[in-house]
Amino acid sequence: MNTIPEILSAQKVLFKSQKTKSISYRLTFLKALKKEIQSKEQDIYNALKKDFNKPEFESFVSEYGLVISELNLAIKNANKWSRRERVKSSLLTFPSKDYIYKEPYGNILVIAPWNYPFLLAVNPLIMALASGNTVVLKPSELTINTSKLISEIIQNVFPKNVVASVEGGIETSTELLAQKWDFIFFTGSVSVGKIVAKAAAKHLTPVTLELGGKSPCIIDDSTNLKLVAKRISWGKFFNGGQTCIAPDYVIIYSKVKDEFIKHLKNEIVNRYGVNPKESQDFPRIINQKNVLRLKSMLHDCNIIFGGEIDENKCYISPTLIDNPSLDSNIMQDEIFGPILPILSYKNENDIESIIWNYDKPLSLYVFSNRKTFIKHIITKYSFGGGVINDSLIHFGNNKLPFGGVGASGMGNYHGKYGFDTFTHNKSIIKRGNWLDPSLRYAPYKQQFNFIKKLFNFFS
Ligand code: NAD
Repeated sequence: MNTIPEILSAQKVLFKSQKTKSISYRLTFLKALKKEIQSKEQDIYNALKKDFNKPEFESFVSEYGLVISELNLAIKNANKWSRRERVKSSLLTFPSKDYIYKEPYGNILVIAPWNYPFLLAVNPLIMALASGNTVVLKPSELTINTSKLISEIIQNVFPKNVVASVEGGIETSTELLAQKWDFIFFTGSVSVGKIVAKAAAKHLTPVTLELGGKSPCIIDDSTNLKLVAKRISWGKFFNGGQTCIAPDYVIIYSKVKDEFIKHLKNEIVNRYGVNPKESQDFPRIINQKNVLRLKSMLHDCNIIFGGEIDENKCYISPTLIDNPSLDSNIMQDEIFGPILPILSYKNENDIESIIWNYDKPLSLYVFSNRKTFIKHIITKYSFGGGVINDSLIHFGNNKLPFGGVGASGMGNYHGKYGFDTFTHNKSIIKRGNWLDPSLRYAPYKQQFNFIKKLFNFFS
């Protein structure tokens, strides 16, 4: 059982056998997965370090720790979340007992990106498994060490007909997408998201697309700029700026821009020293292709800090750009690297013309002490999710759904929302037989007026 069609067909047989619907079966695998991951904790940090110099601290808080907490949540709640739910019957269905059955979709495909290569491969897998599905996972081909380790962990825990890891690049992904799945969960770029959506549409397969976009930070003049600089630079330079919800650019009230830039520069030096290349805490760009992509974004920019590039070492220093025009390279696409453009506004129209120049972002961050300003920004603009007075941290609460809107994605997950993503809500009514009013049966003429009155009374 080694080819993709062979693996999928074995998973189909297993799902039809009903075995994956047993809670004890799911819990056994979830617990075994947790044990295996815990036993490989150091290997995970080493693999991430080798792949793009990710510091152990960042690997713990943004990959290993989140995976373990998602596993704990799934193990604790899989039984409760899987139970059928009773809802009130309606006038139209009375007498009846009305239920929602939690049905796993079946055979799931998960395609993962490279930027949080462990977290974004394993987290969707956990909830897909907890809700009773089989999974084929394709980790990213760009983080060779982490992806190899993920495959090893999966092989050690699961028979291939339950969960299988299939490594490879575009060709493998294309072959996977050509199969008929019951659900596809994709995390990656907008352009590949469109390819996935097209392939899924061929079989009418439901999808969750966790994509990217240009996530803005909006700062007014009522706030503590030193603290804002600290929090934005943390969110921007964490993981080397290669975070889907990283602050992509700043829009700041024009009169406080210079002061903010001064604080940002200090902040970068405080965190990474005068030469960030020597810092143990600053990751590298994933590969040379991406270094060149970022380099070309810089070519028509006014660099006011950083800008150092070492292509061979995949290094780009934390870089600040002053006031780029909206049609410059850096403002065309998601940056996905340690470069922060700083734009300014004088009035609300300026903010609007920048934000609405782009598709709906995955995140938006607003920094202010003015309640009305905050409320206005949060409600006026459409975006996946965000934070008031900080960045990134909404990802860390698994009681909040995480996902995009419009071009930044569709669907969401994390915690119970992940479980629900991989679950079909099957509505079932059990009809009582002791009463059968003749109201709905023909001939209709006599009861029509009565039915209308009844509807108006109850609606
Ligand atoms: P990517 O789209 O290039 O690759 C993602 C996955 O798709 C990989 O497994 C890759 O092998 C596969 N793939 C690539 N090209 C393909 C093709 N032509 N056909 C089929 N499959 C293909 O993304 P990436 O570079 O790995 O990750 C960066 C992007 O992901 C950024 O845009 C980022 O914003 C986004 N992202 C989003 C989230 C989120 O949760 N919303 C999280 C992380 C990253």
